[in-house]
Amino acid sequence: MGEGEELNGNEGQLPGRRGGANGRDVVTEGAKDGVKDGVKHGVKDGVKDGVKHGVKDGVKDGVKDGVKDGVKDGVKILGIESSCDETAAAVVVDGRKILSSVVASQIDIHRKYGGVVPELASREHLRQIVPVVREALAQAGLQFEELDAIAVTQGPGLVGSLLVGITYGKTLASALGKPLVAVNHLDGHVHAAFLEAYQNEKVPRLPAVCLIVSGGHTVLYEVKNDAGSSDSGAFAYRKLGQTRDDAAGEAYDKVAKLLGLGYPGGPILDRLAAAATPGNAKAPAKFGPTKTRGNALDFSFSGLKTAVLYHVREHPEYTDEIRKREEAVAAGRRAYAELLPMCSAETLGLVREFQNAVVRDLVERTMMAAEECEVQTILVSGGVSANSQLRAVFAERARAKGLEVFFPDRALSTDNAAMIAAAAYGDFVRGRVADASLNAKASLPLG
Ligand code: ADP
Ligand code: MG
Repeated sequence: MGEGEELNGNEGQLPGRRGGANGRDVVTEGAKDGVKDGVKHGVKDGVKDGVKHGVKDGVKDGVKDGVKDGVKDGVKILGIESSCDETAAAVVVDGRKILSSVVASQIDIHRKYGGVVPELASREHLRQIVPVVREALAQAGLQFEELDAIAVTQGPGLVGSLLVGITYGKTLASALGKPLVAVNHLDGHVHAAFLEAYQNEKVPRLPAVCLIVSGGHTVLYEVKNDAGSSDSGAFAYRKLGQTRDDAAGEAYDKVAKLLGLGYPGGPILDRLAAAATPGNAKAPAKFGPTKTRGNALDFSFSGLKTAVLYHVREHPEYTDEIRKREEAVAAGRRAYAELLPMCSAETLGLVREFQNAVVRDLVERTMMAAEECEVQTILVSGGVSANSQLRAVFAERARAKGLEVFFPDRALSTDNAAMIAAAAYGDFVRGRVADASLNAKASLPLG
């Protein structure tokens, strides 16, 4: 934590995402300004952008075979997700078949702050929730009355954001006289890996080890079938380890910011690292394995982020190119093809070394957990699981050990509501429904 604070508060270089509930890092500095600004410009843009992209993506990614396939008789659950910076709604049948999945992302709104601003996020959820839910129903070809249940994310997450989804879900469930199911966001991420496998007609074998790795979480669980529910998709969890400071996605976002590469950091760093070949990239710094005293399955990423910062500070030759990239990103020129030519061989090498260190750490500890728990299956989920090197290294290491590894499709890796609807199914069939007293829990534990 100490090192993280140093970067956040005092330096002023990296906005303080810290301070959010459940250790989630959120932008708090300048948040007041953000609200003002957001209402004036950001939110207006966001509504336009979010719905436009979200719905388009939803149409493309979410609707697979639809109601045509005789899924009419199955249990149809509307999932609602609003724990952080995505307003999402989806309809999933029997916890397995995605009828629709609509995601309205707020990235454009939070971009200029280099992280999620909670006040802006809540306001944006309020604006998006009604059109996003309507669109999810329309794409599924269903009327509200045809739903069997409404599922909402209860936590963990930003409390103001969670409350928007919960309040909407409660109201809808009560107006329709349908059951309400409360879902843990992390349980949702685990179900995302299952959902993907089901689309490919595979079923991950349990017990498994699951790595959930995103901008807000880096945590390892042992996953088993909940007693007596081997076929209903309700899981039991045992936490094996977690980050002691920054989440891996947060490290990506902060390193991208300090290199002048914009927000979010993961996708651009992923591509720049892939472009860094021995011919065009030197290794200006080497980052060794991170040691965590005590639990060997705990993670730590703030030291690595600080090492990158110190390296950059000690080498003034980076200053010029960073400033140029910052200017380009501020002017909206943030595409990979525009930024790549603005990166020196040293920068590409630095990005590659940073990613090597993150991937090595995530894979090593997960493999160690799989061995300790004697499982045959590894599940990897959350925004960072979209990383191409992480996927390739996991696949290779798992193959060598005779283990199976499952990732959600990229659209299901980051926050979405299909995973929430899928996770709700096991609870719904077992009669575990919520009542009107349901409240948001910023630090809701899993298992
Ligand atoms: P959260 O909302 O908790 O931050 P998400 O599941 O929405 O989590 O994931 C967003 C995070 O994933 C961001 O920190 C982003 O930088 C990271 N991310 C997205 N794509 C990649 C990628 N290809 N490589 C590494 N990190 C990524
Ligand atoms: Mg997100």
